[in-house]
Amino acid sequence: MQALAVFPSKKSLQLIDIPQPKLQRATDVLLRVREVGLCGTDREISAFEYGSPPPGSDHLVLGHESLAEVVEVGRDVHTLRPGDLVVAMVRRPCSHPECRPCRAGRSDFCVTGDFIERGIKDADGFLTEYAVDDEEYLVKVPKPLADVAVLIEPITVVAKAANQAQAILDRLPYDISHQRGLVLGAGPIGLLGAMALVANGFETVVYSRGSEEGDRAKLVQSLGATYISADTQPIETLAKKAGEFDVVIEAVGVVSVMIAASRSLRANGVVALTGIPAEGGATELMVGRSLRELVLRNQVIFGTVNAGRRDYLSAIRDLEQFMILFPDSVRKLISHRIPLSEASRMLIDRKGIKNVVQLNLRAA
Ligand code: BGC
Repeated sequence: MQALAVFPSKKSLQLIDIPQPKLQRATDVLLRVREVGLCGTDREISAFEYGSPPPGSDHLVLGHESLAEVVEVGRDVHTLRPGDLVVAMVRRPCSHPECRPCRAGRSDFCVTGDFIERGIKDADGFLTEYAVDDEEYLVKVPKPLADVAVLIEPITVVAKAANQAQAILDRLPYDISHQRGLVLGAGPIGLLGAMALVANGFETVVYSRGSEEGDRAKLVQSLGATYISADTQPIETLAKKAGEFDVVIEAVGVVSVMIAASRSLRANGVVALTGIPAEGGATELMVGRSLRELVLRNQVIFGTVNAGRRDYLSAIRDLEQFMILFPDSVRKLISHRIPLSEASRMLIDRKGIKNVVQLNLRAA
């Protein structure tokens, strides 16, 4: 079967043939992959700037935003059956006995850094026709969500950020009514973040590059949120124009924006940084590095990297709610569906909002 793999040492990205995997352990599940979303992390890996192949391998099979169908289950699998739809969790625990989050099933808070991420770090991903995974890392998806369920993994980023932001706001000795939320960036995470804020009753503003007449702006407005263009409004004076916010969700991954994020914040407010800035850039180098650490290691106020099973379950509930409130806007997020043969081109020439690779088209 075919798979899209990156060879970091040869600096090449190519379709390869690999054997179809088989169940090995009693808790294994054989999956027929249906769809895989592409994101900025995949682009960074394809540009040889991020990620690592499994130990001993010269290549990494890409793909971590998965949606798959169960084909076969091992004899100790109790919660899944052939025909079920699942999303695979990305992070897997490190092996250090002293890592309390990993031992407690929260590898998204791993403290050693030796966690594994399928399709990103030390384990192959899902940009292939079949994959095997342990039942423990699979989350069952309600079938009515099938056509948009590939968005669940990116929604987990927002769900985890929102759960933590709420926990931080809950420390306040008073109720905040009429909360105001700001989203920085109108990529998939930003737009999903805006949906979550609107769905939770926030007065919501999205601030991004791109005109106030453009498609992303229209999508934001269709949610009942306000769009402000960074092309005409500098971030430093955004609060003057739009007022201050209780919650800011940053989803740009650009150091200057991340640093400016808190400038629009109300007293006692909270900023969730979800973008992962590239290392580098002369004057931004040091700050960029520490912000990158902050996001990847869940430090300070407050970086967040996804996601535990709890966040996957929240994401499924969020998506169900989004599909009641604004189904057309959710569907519009998936701007292109392409076959595996076009995935590498799409990783290089980025188009639209969320590009999704379809697999096993004949079996579907
Ligand atoms: C993925 C996360 C992952 C992060 C860092 C993101 O694109 O959605 O699961 O933890 O990259 O590797």
